[in-house]
Amino acid sequence: MQKEGIIKFRLDLIPKIPSIDERTIHSINTIRTLLLQKQWMGVDESGIGYGNLSLRSNELGFFITASQTASYPLLSPQQICWITRWNIEQNFIQAVGILAPSSESLTHCAIYQSCYQAHAIIHIHQQKFWEIESPYLAYTPLGENCGTSSLAQSIIQLFSKVHSSSILGINMRGHRSGLIFWGKDLWEAYQKIILFEKLSIKL
Ligand SMILES: [Zn+2]
Repeated sequence: MQKEGIIKFRLDLIPKIPSIDERTIHSINTIRTLLLQKQWMGVDESGIGYGNLSLRSNELGFFITASQTASYPLLSPQQICWITRWNIEQNFIQAVGILAPSSESLTHCAIYQSCYQAHAIIHIHQQKFWEIESPYLAYTPLGENCGTSSLAQSIIQLFSKVHSSSILGINMRGHRSGLIFWGKDLWEAYQKIILFEKLSIKL
């Protein structure tokens, strides 16, 4: 059985508040508010947070929401992690932050390293979207559970076969209700989810 919200990678966490500019925090909070309203991100009935988002840093690596922060209406730099280095094969992440990065950080690493057009990523949970067989999505294998190095490797393989502009997002078959979208910024990633929703109604 898959365990959600549990960190499965080796983490080297430098315990400091990451320095994030006001504009970045504002764009994170703007998109998070929309995702929380849609319940594409939030806290499930067993109290476990779901959904996360990230965006590339101009300097190095990317910023990602910290683990179990979905219950906060607004985030400050204390609830965000800066991932500075990673190695998917070695199941390793180095980050700067007060809290650990999202347990699904390796999935984001895989997208940033294989898709240069991706500058922001949104991971949502939506059961109905997840159940759809859609030509607008690519699919990871059923056996790949959330947050694992092996799922991240499957995503890298997927990008070697499918061009990122030919799909709207990825459906993680082995991660119940889990889908992931990306874009040049958070707004574009969010708009892809909205477009997917519209196109899916017609399917
Ligand atoms: Zn998830």
